[in-house]
Order: sequence, then C-alpha cells, then structure tokens
Amino acid sequence: MNAFATPGPALWSAQAHMPSVIGNQLVITRGEGNYIFTDDGRRLFDGTAGLWHTNIGHGRAEMAEVAAEQMRTLETYHVFGRFLNDRAVELAEKIASISPIAEPKIILNSGGSDSIDVALKLARRYWQLRGRSEKTMILSRDLAYHGLHAYGTSVAGLDFNREGYGTDSLVPETARFDTYDIEKVRQTVAEIGPHRIAALIAEPIQGTGGVIPPAPGYLEGLQQIADEHDILLILDEVITGFGRTGHWFAADRYQLHPHIVTMAKGISSGYSAVGGIIVAPEVWAPFYETGAPMYRHGTTYSGHATSAALALKNLEIIEREGLLGRVQELETVLTAELAALSSDDRIAETRVAGLLGGIQLRPEFSAEAVTDDMVAQGWIARPLRGNVIQLSPPFTTTDDELRGFVAAAVSSLDTVAASSS
Ligand code: PLP
Repeated sequence: MNAFATPGPALWSAQAHMPSVIGNQLVITRGEGNYIFTDDGRRLFDGTAGLWHTNIGHGRAEMAEVAAEQMRTLETYHVFGRFLNDRAVELAEKIASISPIAEPKIILNSGGSDSIDVALKLARRYWQLRGRSEKTMILSRDLAYHGLHAYGTSVAGLDFNREGYGTDSLVPETARFDTYDIEKVRQTVAEIGPHRIAALIAEPIQGTGGVIPPAPGYLEGLQQIADEHDILLILDEVITGFGRTGHWFAADRYQLHPHIVTMAKGISSGYSAVGGIIVAPEVWAPFYETGAPMYRHGTTYSGHATSAALALKNLEIIEREGLLGRVQELETVLTAELAALSSDDRIAETRVAGLLGGIQLRPEFSAEAVTDDMVAQGWIARPLRGNVIQLSPPFTTTDDELRGFVAAAVSSLDTVAASSS
C-alpha cells in the first residue's frame, strides 16, 4: 500500500485542477449522435462537440466498420524514408484537393499540439535553409491557444499556460502581439524587427481564448504584414478547419493565403487521433530540391493508416451530408438566438462565427457555475477564459436542439442568478 492516499482513479485528468474534480468526475461510456451517456445512465447533449471536434456526431457505425476493415487489411505502416502507406497518401491527396493553399504538401501526425511543433520548427528550418539565420522569432496573438507541447506552451497567449516553468518561454525567441488592433501588431513587428521574425501564428477565430472572431480587417492586416516583411503566416485551423466556419477552412471564409495551416480535430471528428500541416510551395520547394537537407519531422504515427482511413470517411460524410451548408444554416440560427439576448443585462456580449458561439457573462455571474448547472440539466457547455460559455455543438445538431441549448444557458443563468441574489 502506498504511504500516500491517492484519491480518485489512476488516470490523471488532462487540464484539470485535481483537488476540485476528484469526487465530481463524469465517466462517459457511450455516444450516439449529438448525445453522450454517463456510467450512471445520464444522457447529455454534447453542446461543445467534445473539445470542438466531434463534428459528425458520436457513434457512427460506418466509422466503426471502416476502422475494422482497415485493421484487418493493414493497421498501419510508417511513412519514414521510402515507405508510405496507401491510406496516408490518399488522405494527403484529399486534403490537398480542399486546401486553401494551391499545390500544397501535407505532413500528417497525431494531433493539434503535434501540428504546432512541426509547423513552428518548419518555419525556423525554412529560414535557416534560405540563409536567413537571424529569422528565429515566432510571434503569436495575446489570448492564443496552440496546444500544450513545448512549442505550443511557449507561444501561448493565455499567460497561465506559459507560466510556472521558470522561464517565460520553454522554447526561446517567442513574443506576443495584440489580438484586436492591427496597428499595434505593426508596432510590435517594427519593435522586434521583421528581419528577426520567422513567422506569425494565429487562430483565425480564437477558441479557448473565449470565442473571439477577428475584428474587421485584422486577419487581412496580418496577411499584409507577413507579405510586406518576408514573414511566414501560419494559421492555426485546429478548431476552424474542416467545416466549423461553414467553409472547409477559415482561410477560405476570410480569403487568406497562409504559408502553413495547422489542423487536427475536425479532420477525423475525433474518430482517430490525426493532425498535420498544409504547406505552401514556397516553403516546401527548397526541401524537395536535389542536394536539399532533410526536414526531420517524423513520428511513429505520422500518416497512421487506420487514422487516415477514418479521416477519409469523415470527410466523405461531411460532403455526402452537405454539412458545410448545414453549418451555414446553423450559424444563422445561432446568430438570431444570441442576438435575442442583447437586452439581457447579465450578459456582456455574445459572439458567433460559423458554429462557434460564445456568451460572455458580466463578472457578477460565473460562466463556470452556469455551465455546471447546464451539465446538471443535461446540456454540456464549457466555461472559457473571459467568463464565456462555449457553444460549439456537432454539425448534425438540429435547429431545435440549438435553440434548446441556448435556452438552457439562459435558464441556468437564471438559476445561478437566483441562488446568488
Ligand atoms: N490549436 C488550437 C487552436 C486548439 O484549439 C487546440 C486544442 O484545442 C490545439 C491547437 C491543440 O490540439 P490538441 O489538443 O489536439 O493537441
């Protein structure tokens, strides 16, 4: 017996304050469509699509069949050196065909944080190869979330994700820029010196920072700064990629031409752990020339065949069921529902872009308490930074479910307000 009492299960939860969650955890045992079920038999509407990723809904038998078939044929084979596997090749071709970047190359790996590491290392490696060895700085937005591997931690714009490691940035040479005002971004770039900057990285719509769509002209401004100063523009489309804005990519919605796009979540709707990057010719071409050095980015599961087969089927379902169009319709419903809350003086602001919505409460009302109550009532929502309630259900949500979800947020706000008055 361990001398220390170890409370709770052996599993150390991710992103959890352990003393608060022990004794209060939800064990999910089943998913079906837009709902999940707990081990004690409760049914909950998945209003966040897990972590903004279960875009086609849970428990699709078709996906299970694809996985079983691929496992029987070839569970996977690595894509190091001369080796490839057919599913990874096919997935890269599919992504290239819907990519916002023309003639791209695709690197595949296991998730969003992986994709950030591989993108940011590539940005630095690219400038080294071009003989611009002073270009090492990576600049990211205030309030940004780019996952939690060492590079993602280092470029976090949510300071709490960067703090506590004895240094401002685990990977050196990072800095933050303003998330709203493009003129301030220009100033930051000028102060640091564009000749030192390898890349700007940005979520087109900030997710974890509190569902923050870009101010008009902001992303276009980032594009301009990058183009003017020989700086790579990296769009982190881990949330927005594969339909959440009603387009395949937010780069399409905002008509941007990034050098690198990072992706994960929606590629497979979470049926397999896939991430990766889309790379523009300007960046990949120097690595394809005779005599070029290698870009060392591989992991064992890069291009995992079963993961790729699931991603391919997920993309097929999105196309077959017209889910991009459906997200556009749901955006209209969500916009109307949230606009109707404008007279509620407990609410500071509501924000929508695609099927990403946020209700920002005034400080007297806690988004955490409201989302706790929503979960108790059968509606999963999540509190985000800035006292915001996250609304990002699956693309398969019905209009009525979406309306019910917003109504549940208001009802839980009523409950919380009544208990605190
Ligand atoms: N980038 C963004 C914008 C994200 O929202 C996330 C996760 O939420 C990540 C990167 C990290 O992805 P993952 O959790 O798959 O490592």
